[in-house]
Amino acid sequence: MSAVLGRTQLAAAIRALRAELSGGSRADLGREVRELAELLSERELRNPSALHRDPPEQELLAALPDAAALVSREGWVRVSNAAFDTLAANGRAAGLTPLEITRSAELSDAVKRALEGTARRLDLTLGRNTSLVNLAPLLRGEVLLLLRDVTDARRAEATRRDFVANASHELRTPVAAVRAAAETLLSGAVEDPAAARSFVEIVARHAERLARLTSDLLDLSRIESRQWQIEQSPVDVGLLSRQVVDLVAPEAHAKELSIRTKVPEGTRVRGDARALEQVLVNLVENGVKYTGEGTVTVDAEREGEHVVLSVSDTGPGIERHHLPRIFERFYRVDAGRSREQGGTGLGLAIVKHLVQAMGGEVGVESGEGGSRFWVRLRAA
Ligand code: ADP
Repeated sequence: MSAVLGRTQLAAAIRALRAELSGGSRADLGREVRELAELLSERELRNPSALHRDPPEQELLAALPDAAALVSREGWVRVSNAAFDTLAANGRAAGLTPLEITRSAELSDAVKRALEGTARRLDLTLGRNTSLVNLAPLLRGEVLLLLRDVTDARRAEATRRDFVANASHELRTPVAAVRAAAETLLSGAVEDPAAARSFVEIVARHAERLARLTSDLLDLSRIESRQWQIEQSPVDVGLLSRQVVDLVAPEAHAKELSIRTKVPEGTRVRGDARALEQVLVNLVENGVKYTGEGTVTVDAEREGEHVVLSVSDTGPGIERHHLPRIFERFYRVDAGRSREQGGTGLGLAIVKHLVQAMGGEVGVESGEGGSRFWVRLRAA
């Protein structure tokens, strides 16, 4: 038999097909004619104008919340939804292979395996994003490919993991110190009054640190889980800042720092008095902790509909590259210094969460002359 279809062969096939379609028995077309038919139908499927005629699956894919595509047995995208199309450079995925669309060899391999019948789920890094890929082989040999952007979820999981690791690490140090001091006392030091006193002091100091850590951790978790119900009522920040300054004044005076508030009484913001007090205490205490000499000042300024409260100090300032991360949990410029000062590394994270819960913003400016932490809230 020749490789090229002869006219008579073709004419015979056409006649047989006509007969079949008008009710006759099934036509025997011969291998070449069948192959020709398959190729023609593939060309038709790949033809963009054919793809424009929405196949029935299109509606189904359009209803899915993920980027979704049906991959043909030959490995190219036959139907896709709008979300999937945005992955393709020219905005149309149909007719292209997953490799051509995503440049991911890993995805391409997984699709190949799915075409052989193996369902798979995998996390895929595409540029800066992470996608959860679901590959499901379908009955007629095609594969349903679903891509869900899980970048934010994966980032949140990583943050949570880091947080747990950091918190455990922070807790371990004072626990170990308390344990060592107790063991020393038990193994005899308790009999020697001078030594006993110094070990009990160690226990007290580290117990204090544990108390601060657990209390800050609890505050953070209460704010995050919204158990701490944040009110939105008028708060006189003039009065509040005076109370906070009075509270922290002994620490400041012990270091010969001057501390003052310039917030006029009657300056009112919308917020939660308890939350705002905590915010101011944290910022003013930091000012006092990190300033060697000079002044810590609380001030307020009206900016249209808002009031900007600020806590400024004449301390060493914070180097520029630390500023974007300074409000993160456990982020410290100098961990040793912070711990020495009784810091937990959570103060500013609590400030940020509370202010955001009140619908406000926080920020910091810092240079050689000192730091200025500010909080912007709606005026009441
Ligand atoms: P900490 O308990 O360590 O003070 P914070 O979250 O309150 O934790 O602050 C994070 C870090 O920011 C501190 O460890 C310190 O390095 C830096 N910092 C905060 N406030 C000031 C300030 N007023 N001046 C200089 N550095 C500061």
